[in-house]
Amino acid sequence: MIAHLINTDAGNRGTLRVYLDYRRNNPDFLRDSAKMLLDNYERVLIITGFPIPPTMRAETDGPPGALAIARAVENLGGRAEVLTYQEVREALDRFHLSFVEGPDVSDYSLVVAVETPGRGKDGRYYSMTGAEITRGTFDRAILEARDAGIPTIGIGDGGNEAGMGKIRELVERHVPRGRKIASTVETDGLVLSAVSNWGAYGLVAQASLEFGRKLIPDWKEGEVIRTISRSGLIDGVTRNQTPTVDGISLRIHEGIVELLNALLEESMGG
Ligand code: ZN
Ligand code: ZN
Repeated sequence: MIAHLINTDAGNRGTLRVYLDYRRNNPDFLRDSAKMLLDNYERVLIITGFPIPPTMRAETDGPPGALAIARAVENLGGRAEVLTYQEVREALDRFHLSFVEGPDVSDYSLVVAVETPGRGKDGRYYSMTGAEITRGTFDRAILEARDAGIPTIGIGDGGNEAGMGKIRELVERHVPRGRKIASTVETDGLVLSAVSNWGAYGLVAQASLEFGRKLIPDWKEGEVIRTISRSGLIDGVTRNQTPTVDGISLRIHEGIVELLNALLEESMGG
């Protein structure tokens, strides 16, 4: 139910086919990742930030999702640390997160990538339009975590993000320019979504259901999106500095959050 909601293709980006194919063979993908989070929340490294060509400024999708996961980890009693770009740090400044640079991945119990580039098969990084991303990236942390046997979760919406290597074949088959842009970087859990922020919110909602308590009691979507937009993050689809995400109006993002909350409250009896 939550998996369906977060895969509502409101931006008409054609991700529905990828979702339906992925879901067919992985009906429990969201629950599996939620369990991974609940089993490994002690010290979580959260990676986020997707630079948009040609300016290479980070977009509004990703950082709110990272913030939501950090809040859930803190609520569970764990520690969350965020690895991201400087402008994302500044955009999230007033939310009092812990940031890291050059983390030693072996220190963590779990690594989560929320909307951040994953290298393609030619070793380069691409936007959904096929433009090359010419800025430093963080997917090495995922590769290191996998080498060290540390559990990893990826959250993506297009096919070019760290984690989506797990379904590279589906990305190549269904996504325009998929052969070029598809990420090769796999994660143990993969939360597919129509907007990566929704993937993160859905993961937290599913974890709340499994845990039996709402892990984020008061999420203010409008405030978060407006704050990061004002500080300079751009819409990844329109490339405009507006309080929108992936070309979708704030009203719809708030609506998805409201529905997730209503579903949770109904399932948990208040
Ligand atoms: Zn994306
Ligand atoms: Zn997105």
